[in-house]
Amino acid sequence: MVDQTSVLNEAAAGLQGLAQMQSRIILHAGENSVVDNTQLPHLDSDRKVILTNNVYETLKIIIDGTNVRGAEVPFLLFGDYNNSVFVFDSVYADVSDGDNPDEANFSRDLQQKVFDFGLGAKKQENKVVAHGHSHPQHGKYYLNFSLSDMRGYFGMRRKTWLQNVMVCGCLLTGGNFNFVFCDGKDVYRIDNVYTQNENGQIVRLPSFGPDVATLGYGRNMGR
Ligand SMILES: [Zn+2]
Repeated sequence: MVDQTSVLNEAAAGLQGLAQMQSRIILHAGENSVVDNTQLPHLDSDRKVILTNNVYETLKIIIDGTNVRGAEVPFLLFGDYNNSVFVFDSVYADVSDGDNPDEANFSRDLQQKVFDFGLGAKKQENKVVAHGHSHPQHGKYYLNFSLSDMRGYFGMRRKTWLQNVMVCGCLLTGGNFNFVFCDGKDVYRIDNVYTQNENGQIVRLPSFGPDVATLGYGRNMGR
């Protein structure tokens, strides 16, 4: 049985977290309000994200697809965490629903994947999921998360079937791999993101930086 009090407490904390987001907004336009990256609190500096080479290669395809179609692509990353390191080793993308450039739409398929992962994780510890999407290069603010992105992370954190799972967000934009962690009270940026190149070496990926995609930098990282 789900403990109703803890669910309500978590919902209340989520609303407080969203209220805090208001102070970090740089553009007021309803759900598409932009949350200023520089205003997000930092997760401890020893926290890291590592993408396996397969995941990294798939994310590069998503980045290319985003730029070609000029539309957001929603995806999910699954993995394990070990002390302070989140290792993502599988990715599911939904490329069927990329017509709306403003809003990545989480299809039933992706929702089912999260549900199944949550059920599987009940028996195992140390599981992590990232709610991911990409932003095409539109307007002035595409390098930042939106308020509706943040709502998505708080919403995922509140799912009862993900109680045992760590929840992150991932935004691919301008060649950056921006990761955040949501504890249900706030959203924190993770400043250290790495992948493993074909030679097995760990290399750092650009995150929370300027647009590096136009330089071809983000695409060629890790080689
Ligand atoms: Zn977004």
